Amino acid sequence: MPETRFVPFIEYHKRFLVWWGLLLFCCKLGSRRQLDFDLRDAATQVLANVNRLAGTQQRTLPVHDTLDHFLGHLGAAPLAALRTQMIRRLIRMKALDRLRLLGCFVIAVDGTGHLHFARRHCAQCLVRHHVAHDVYLHMVEEAKLVAPNGIALSVGTAFIENAEVPARADRDADQWKQDCEVAALKRLLPALKRAYPQTPFCLTGDALYACYPVIELVEAQGWAYVFTFKPGRLPAAWAEFQTLLRLHSEQTRRVMLPDGTQQVYRWASGVTVEARHNRLYSVNAVHCAETTAAGTTTTFAWLTNLPVTRDTVVEITTKGGRCRWKIDNEGFNLQKNSDLNLEHAYSLDPERLKAYYYLLQIAHLILQLLERGSLLRQLAREVGKTPRTLWGSLKNIARRLLESFRYHLLPPVDAATPRIQIRLNDTS
Ligand SMILES: [Zn+2]
Repeated sequence: MPETRFVPFIEYHKRFLVWWGLLLFCCKLGSRRQLDFDLRDAATQVLANVNRLAGTQQRTLPVHDTLDHFLGHLGAAPLAALRTQMIRRLIRMKALDRLRLLGCFVIAVDGTGHLHFARRHCAQCLVRHHVAHDVYLHMVEEAKLVAPNGIALSVGTAFIENAEVPARADRDADQWKQDCEVAALKRLLPALKRAYPQTPFCLTGDALYACYPVIELVEAQGWAYVFTFKPGRLPAAWAEFQTLLRLHSEQTRRVMLPDGTQQVYRWASGVTVEARHNRLYSVNAVHCAETTAAGTTTTFAWLTNLPVTRDTVVEITTKGGRCRWKIDNEGFNLQKNSDLNLEHAYSLDPERLKAYYYLLQIAHLILQLLERGSLLRQLAREVGKTPRTLWGSLKNIARRLLESFRYHLLPPVDAATPRIQIRLNDTS
C-alpha cells in the first residue's frame, strides 16, 4: 500500500497573518517569495516576535502562499478600514496637528499607475493603445496627507478600473469611456468624507483638478482646496485674474528665503469660474514669482477657497499648493523606486492585488513614523549621532529592521509597560 503523507492543517490567527503581510513591506523584502527566505527561519526570533506583535501563540511560521490564500479570503476592505483606523488614531492623538494649514489637514490627490501587463490580465484592466502594442493597466487615485516635512500618508484610495467592458473593447479602446482619474475622484472624495466625517481637509492637486466639477465636489464635502492654476485649463478665469492683479497691485508680499531666493506673492479675490447652468464660483487666486540668487525666475499660480491675505498667503502656498508634489515624490516615486515595489504584481488575482496595495500603504505609514519620528533620533543621539550618520541612509533602516526582527526578541508589552510618545520631525 502506498504511504499516505499526512500534511497537518494549521490555522493561523488573522492578526498573525496581517502582521506577516505587513512585515513583507516593513522589511522591504520586494517580493512575496522572499518571505520564505528572510522570515521563515525557525532558528531566529521571528516566530516569537510576530506572536508578540499579534498577541498570538502560533507554533509554526507560514509559507508565503498561506498569506496569499488568506488575503483571498479576507479581501481588501478590512485592510482599507485598518488604514483608516490608524490615520484616525494619529489625528485623534494630535500627532499631526502641527502639519495643519489654517486648521485643515492637507490632502494631496493624484492618480498613478499601479501595475501594467502586456496582455489583458482581468476584466477591469484599462487599455492604452500604442503604435506597436496595447498596454493593460491598473491605476489608483490616491489621497495622501502631506506636509512640508515630507510626510505622505495614504488616507484614501479609489482603484481606477473598468466596471463593464464592452465586446471588442480591446480593439475599440479609444471609442468607449474607460474609468479615469476625475471619475475615480468622484468616488474617492465622498468615501473620504464618510471615513473622516468631522475632519477638516484642504485638498491640493495639479491643474487637472482646477475645474468646476472638482471644485463643486470639494465644496460639497465642506472642505478647502488649493489647486494649481494654469491659463490653458481655465482661460477666462486666468484673463480675469491678470486684470484683477493689475487693479490690486497693493496685494503683494515679498519674501527672502535663507538661500537668497526671492519670492513675490500677488493675489486676488473674486475670480470667476463658470459652472453648469450659469452657476458661478467665486474663487481666490495666488501668483508667485520666484527668483533664485542666480537670477532664474519661475512662476506658480494656485486657485483656492481659503482666505488669502498678507498674513496667510505664504502658509497657503507653502503648506498647501507646493505640497502637491509630495504625493508624487515622497508617495508614488518612493513606493515605486524602493523595495516597497509598488509596481510589482504581488498576486495576479485582482482582489488580492488591492489587499497587497493596502498592506503596502499601512507598512509605509509605519516606516514613515519610524523614520521621521523622535524615537530613532533619540536612539542615534544616545551614541552621539544623527539617524543619517548612524545608518548611512534611511534606506538602510529597513535592512536593520529585518536584522533586529530576526535576531532580537521584542520586549513583552503589557498593562505595566510605560507608554511612549513619538514626535514627528517638522522639517524634511
Ligand atoms: Zn487587470
